[in-house]
Formats: sequence, structure tokens, C-alpha cells
Amino acid sequence: LVDRAARETRSTVEVGGVAIGPDTFTLVAGPCAVESAEQTIEAARMAKAAGAVLLRGGAYKPRSSPYGFRGLRADGLRILAEVRAETGMPVLTEVVDSRDVELVAGWADMLQVGTRNMQNFGLLEAVGDSGKPVLLKRGMSATVEEWLLAAEYIALRGNSDIVLCERGIRTFEPSVRNTLDLSAVLLAQARSHLPVVVDPSHAAGRRELVRPLARAAVAAGADGVMIDVHPDPASALCDGPQALTSSDLSGLAGQLEDWAALA
Ligand code: PEP
Repeated sequence: LVDRAARETRSTVEVGGVAIGPDTFTLVAGPCAVESAEQTIEAARMAKAAGAVLLRGGAYKPRSSPYGFRGLRADGLRILAEVRAETGMPVLTEVVDSRDVELVAGWADMLQVGTRNMQNFGLLEAVGDSGKPVLLKRGMSATVEEWLLAAEYIALRGNSDIVLCERGIRTFEPSVRNTLDLSAVLLAQARSHLPVVVDPSHAAGRRELVRPLARAAVAAGADGVMIDVHPDPASALCDGPQALTSSDLSGLAGQLEDWAALA
């Protein structure tokens, strides 16, 4: 169902009036985690001012350590809905457990399946049943084939509103969190009709690499990028070192569009 041959042209996915697909370049931005109403609205204002059209923000956080901040959960969903009402930006948020899909789908415009859950087949089927568009991150050790087969699990439930997101893979290089694999963007676009975006924030894990990697993603032909922002990264409860500040964001959307026009 997600194979390139299944459709005449590459697909565009609509999320609350925002298009993600081959005819446009989409900037998604927001905080890694929803920490409070104030932090989320400030991050959303920063994202919007930078040209983002879709707000990301985690209410349920999958953390490697059970002692890490695991999100505000239902309170976080309510905050995201308030921020959507104030900014007009549709909301993308992660769901980590199939038991929460109905609740999260009741609040969000798009559901994210994170790298750790790419092969959680019960969750894939549940988001497939949700009726909401899905952003499917590539598993950190998954091949492109496995990633596309994971998307097929969602599509088999009658939901083809799927956006693939390359977010870096595990390699032997320790100076970045993950190694951004831009060849996977090209391969996924060649082998499937689904839009493919890139998350340079989770790939790099380091603020100073995010903008250059976003530029590289645009040059490779990605359909959008997703970037972490935070009003005060030093106080962030999750992934502060990769979050961009207002000044880091300045002029970014214009540059991305210029680069996309050149790509
Ligand atoms: C995220 O986008 O918040 C996230 C946890 O990403 P990943 O699943 O790529 O680690």
C-alpha cells in the first residue's frame, strides 16, 4: 500500500489544514517536551515566528531512563490544545502506548510514533485505526525496508495519511547522538509514495549541528524538517542541548525555502 507503484504521484498528507508533501516544504517545530503551559506557549510563539506551520511537543515522553522526565501526559495534551487555540497551529504529539491512542487522538491533529516504537506492531495498528495522520519515525537500527513495512502496518488498517521521518541511526560515532542518514530520505521517497521529513535535532543532539543538517536535508529533497525549540534550553527537562533558541532560529524559514527552491 505504501509502495511507490501503488500511486501515480507522491502523496501529500493534510494535517489540520497544513500540507506535507512534494509540492511544499513544511517546517515543524516546537518543544521536545511539554513542560508547562508557559514554556509551551513561548516555544510555540518562537516556532511560529520562525515560520513553522505545525507544532510538535511531547506530552508522553519515551525516555531511555525511567528516572527521566516522562511527560505531563493528559495535562500536556490539554496544554497543547490551549496552545493550538491561541496560535492556530495544528498539533503533532507522540503516543507511546496503544492503550493511550484514543485519548491522544482526541486532542492531537497528528500522532507521532517514535523511533523506539517503530516496530511496536500493536501500536502501529492502533494509530492506523485512529483516523489521524501519523508521523512514523525511523527506528534507530531499522533498515529502510523495515521502516516501510512498519508504515504498511498502519496503511493496512485503512490509514494512508503517513509521513515518514528520518531521525538518525545508531552508528559507532559517539560525538553525535545519532548519525543522520540522508540516503534513507532518497531511498524512502524512491520506494514509497509517502512524504519524508527529517528531524535534525534528534539526529545531532547538538544545537550547532541542527541548522547545517536541516540545510543538508533540504538539499537532499526532504519534504520538511522538524526542529526542537525551547525558550530556555538550559532549564529544559528533556534534550536541552539540541533545542534552538529564538536567535538560533532567526531567518531559518526563509533560508529553508531558498534552499528548497535550489534543491
Ligand atoms: C521526539 O521527537 O520527541 C523523540 C523522542 O524522537 P525519537 O523518537 O526520534 O527519539
